[in-house]
Parts: sequence; C-alpha cells; structure tokens
Amino acid sequence: MIEPGIYRAMIENAMDAFFLTKTDGTILDANPAACKMFGYTQEELQGADRRQIIDVESPGLEKHLKERQEKGKVICELIGIRRSGEKFPIWVSSVIFSGKDGEQNTFTIIQDISELKLKEKELKEAEMNMRMVLNHTEELFIILDKDLRIVNFNKATEEKSKKLLGVPFEKGRSIFDSAAPERLAYLKELYADVLNGSTRRNIVEIPATAEHAKFIIDIRYSPLYDKGQVTGVIINVHDITETKEKEATLLKTNERFYYATKATNDAIWDWDIQNDMVLRVGDGLKNMFGYEIEDAEKDKNFWIDRVHMDDVKKMVEKRSRILFHTNELYWEDEYRFRRADGTYAYVFDKGYIIRSADGKPERMIGATQDVSERKESEALLLELNNRLKKRAEELVNSNIELERFAYVASHDLQEPLRMVTSFLQLFRKRYEGKIDETADQYIHFAVDGAERMKTLIMDLLEYSRVGSSAEVFQETDLNFLLKELQAVFYKSCEETGATIHIDPMPTVKANKTQLFQLFQNLVSNALKYHSDRVPEITISYEEKEEEYVFVVKDNGIGIDSSFHEKIFVIFHRLHSRSEYSGTGIGLAICKKIVERHGGKIWIESEPGSGSSFFFSISKRI
Ligand code: ADP
Repeated sequence: MIEPGIYRAMIENAMDAFFLTKTDGTILDANPAACKMFGYTQEELQGADRRQIIDVESPGLEKHLKERQEKGKVICELIGIRRSGEKFPIWVSSVIFSGKDGEQNTFTIIQDISELKLKEKELKEAEMNMRMVLNHTEELFIILDKDLRIVNFNKATEEKSKKLLGVPFEKGRSIFDSAAPERLAYLKELYADVLNGSTRRNIVEIPATAEHAKFIIDIRYSPLYDKGQVTGVIINVHDITETKEKEATLLKTNERFYYATKATNDAIWDWDIQNDMVLRVGDGLKNMFGYEIEDAEKDKNFWIDRVHMDDVKKMVEKRSRILFHTNELYWEDEYRFRRADGTYAYVFDKGYIIRSADGKPERMIGATQDVSERKESEALLLELNNRLKKRAEELVNSNIELERFAYVASHDLQEPLRMVTSFLQLFRKRYEGKIDETADQYIHFAVDGAERMKTLIMDLLEYSRVGSSAEVFQETDLNFLLKELQAVFYKSCEETGATIHIDPMPTVKANKTQLFQLFQNLVSNALKYHSDRVPEITISYEEKEEEYVFVVKDNGIGIDSSFHEKIFVIFHRLHSRSEYSGTGIGLAICKKIVERHGGKIWIESEPGSGSSFFFSISKRI
C-alpha cells in the first residue's frame, strides 16, 4: 500500500496538468504543471470555473461531458484557454469519483498537444508535398511489399506503365504477373538481391511497335526500409530515350571531329581566351613542326615564343585588333614559325572567334597550316614569270626587228631587182634567137628567176606589212567584201568552170584590207590545189558566243594530217615549183592576220577529199 503522501508528491511533480473539480465545473485544486500550462497561480485556479480554462466551443464538448456522466470517464481532445487568451489543443482524460462524504468530484489530467499537432500538420504537409512531387514527375515510382506485391504507385505509373512496361499496374498484384516468362528467373534473382539490401539498375531498350517508336528506359530497384528492416522495394523508371539519343549524336559529333582532325594535316587549336589556356588536337603539330602536344600545353608562351622575331609584333597586333577592338568572328594571318629543328616554316593561321553576349572574346578555335611549299613555289613562279616576261619582251623586240628587216630588205631589194629585170628584158629583146639555143635557154632561166624573185619579194613585203601597218578595225560587211572577192576570181572561175558559193555573211569588226587578203589567199589556194574535179568552193560561218568561225571549204587534193600544222609556217611548201607555183608565204600571212584579229587558224583535211580551212575572228577587238 503506497502512502497517500507519495501520490501527492507525484502529482505535484508531474509534467501533465492535474485538476480536481466538482461535477458542476468548479475547480477545487490544480498542480503546478496545470498552473504553468494555463498561466494562473494555484490560488487563482482554486474556486475558478472550468469554463475559464476550457473553451466552451470545443467541438463535441457537450457530447464528451455526457459520456463522462454516463460512463464515469472520458478521453477526448478539447481546446484550452490560457490566461493570455491564447487557445491551444489539449488532450483530456477525466474520471468521476465519489468522495468519502458521497459527493461526486472529477479528476482530470490535461496534456498540451500543441506541439504534437504542429508536428502532425507538418508531417501531413510534407506527405502532401511528396505526393504532389511524385504525381507530377515524369518518372515512374512503384512500391512493392516484401512479397513483391504492388502496394502503391504514382500518377506517371498509372499513365505510362502500359506504354513503358507493357502492362497496366494494379495494387495487390504480384510484380511477376507482368514479367515476360523468359525474364522471370533473372527478375527473381534481382528482387531477392534487392530484398537483401542491394540496389540494382537495368537499362532496357523497348523495340518500336505500331504505336510508338523505339525507346530506352532506366530502371532502378532500391530496398525500402522501415526501422532498419527491409520492408519492400521501390522501383523507379525513367525514360532516357532522348538523353541516349543526345549522347549518341554527341558521340557521333565528337567522332566526326576526331576524324576531321585526323584527316587534316593542320595543327588544330582551341584557345580559352579568358583563362589563356590552349587545347591542341590532331597530329598536325607533330607532323608539321615536330612538337609534341604535351610539350606545347605545358608552356603558356609556347606559340608566341616561336613566331619569327620580325613577324611577332605584327601578328600579335593584328590578332588583338580583331579580338578586342572589333566584333569580327574570324581572324587569319601569315607569318613564320620556328620548327623543332630550328628552321622556319611559313604558316597560314586562321581562327573562329566565339564571343559572349556583350561581344567579349571567349574562345578562338582554329587551324595552322604549313604553307612553306606554296610560298616557295609562289616565289619560284614569280621568278619564272619575270623571266618569261623578259623573254617575251625580247621576242617582241626581235620580231619587230625581223619585220623591219624583212620590210627593209624586200623594199630595198625591189630597186636593184627592177633594174636586173628591165635589162634582162632588153637583153632578151635584142639577143633572143640571135646567138644560139643555149643562150636562149639561159635568157629564159634568168628572166624566170628574176620574176620569181619579184613575187617572193612582193610576198615578203606583204607579210611584213601585216604587222607594221596601222591597225584600223572597222565594221565590215562581209557580204560586200566577198562579192568583191568573187569579182577578182571571176575570170579564172570562168576559165576552169570553178564555183565559189558564199553563204549570207555577218558584219564584223575587222581590218578590211587584211580580211580581204585573208579570204583571197585561201580562195586562191583552193583554186590552185584542185584535183581532177572541177573546183567547188564554199564559204560559210558559225557565230559563237565570243567569236565568229569562218570556213573556206574546197574539193581539192587535200593535205595529209602530218602537215596540218607545218603549212602555216613561212616558206613551208609541200610541192615542188614544177607541180604548183608559190612561195610558201600565203598561209603564214593568213595566220598573222587571224592572230591580229584575236583568232586562230586550223585545217581539217585528208588527201584526196578536199580541205576545210577554219579561222576565228574575236568579237572583242
Ligand atoms: P604556197 O601556196 O605559196 O605554196 P601557202 O602558204 O599558201 O604557200 O601554202 C602552203 C602549202 O600548203 C602549199 O604549198 C600547199 O602544199 C598547201 N596548201 C595550201 N592550201 C591548200 C589547199 N587548199 N589544198 C591543198 N593544199 C593546200
């Protein structure tokens, strides 16, 4: 039997509030915890009414009082009122007991549950937030119990499980119900492992079907703990198709970049301007200049230190100007760079600049090319060109001299020749048939030689004149010009029965006299080098974009292809004088005239089947 004094001591020291009240609500006694909870002194509480500390509007108060009356006790939640007027949730346990005098009193224990309520609220909110997150995430969350039955899943699972996992999910079902039979053994092993505390992960590719394209999911299985014990499994499914695709494209891009750097022999660099760090890739640096990438990356001034002393200032200035003073996105320069062996290479360096939104240069990515060979051949070419120019000048000069010589020679030769000819004529007149037959023959040879010399001199003079006469180019109607030509050949055509057919002709810008001579030479050759057939000559033309091409076609003896070039060389003849007369200058004159008109002359011919002489006249004279 415990002494009543001990009960008193326990109540005095209790954490909970203790009240002794009459059934009508008058407070008879209260312990220190009660005073503290409600903010009154013990004296103030003694004799006070219960309604002073318990809100009469506490939900279900009447009902609870009634219950206490009927059952002799009640446990319920009510609202307490502190002295300050603050209301707070309380947990109340109240019993009715009869005193010695038979009077009924109540004994009530009250706990302040404000903190508990607050925690409960926080917990509820946290749970709600969690639920909201889970229901709004794209990822699937599934909770299984220890027997691998589905306990719960989030909204995403509800919506997507059919698509991603092939089955709709239902609470209470075993996770194995939806597994493909061939995977069952594997999954059993996996879940056993997870229930043992391991975390497992699977990346699964779901093949395309009529409804959806192929996709890839990442499944994570983690054990679910409660008080240190595994009580189930959490499955988290994540659609990683897009990430995987991006990874694949990135991989491809990287691969492409890798091979591009392999394929080029340039030294590729990537300069982080803000941090002044240079990343180098490819074999260019080694192949071209003999340096290892690692060595270059170790030294901050690796590049600048190797630019030729005479080029470095200009190069740095230009680069800075483009990088920091303009918004240009491209830089290029040419300078000399020292190779590992100490020799200098000419390099062409170029880079693309990446700028921040405010125009600050952040990175420059570029490639350096060794252009030494090009530089050398450029120099060589320049020298060759100069030499060629000099040679051409010399040639022009010697040509002019030659023409002048031919002109002077032929011109000055005419005079003595004329004298020889006239005296030979006189000589013939007086002595022919008077000496003897041999003398007559000699006279004949001499006259003939002088005649030939005359033609030769005349032709040579003609040839030299083509180059020296003042070049007057004027619009020339070739229809008129060729009519005149026909008139020149009228007599010889009548004698031989030859025909000259002329197509309608254009008007061209040309030196009239020279063009007349050109046609005259060609037609005269066509008539001269005829075969057994009666000569038929056709003159036609074709208009091209840049030029006119004329053709003088005959049905004469033709020319073997081995002579097609040679016949245009001066004095070049294919026949002896006894076969065909001539000096071998006619076609050379033609060639010269055509060239003066910015054109070319050539022939298409075969022995026995006539010849076609083509020549072009440029439209841009
Ligand atoms: P020439 O007629 O005075 O010998 P050309 O320079 O006019 O000199 O001709 C060079 C050579 O080309 C001629 O000797 C001749 O053999 C050949 N030739 C020129 N025109 C014709 C032609 N229409 N048909 C065949 N051969 C030709």
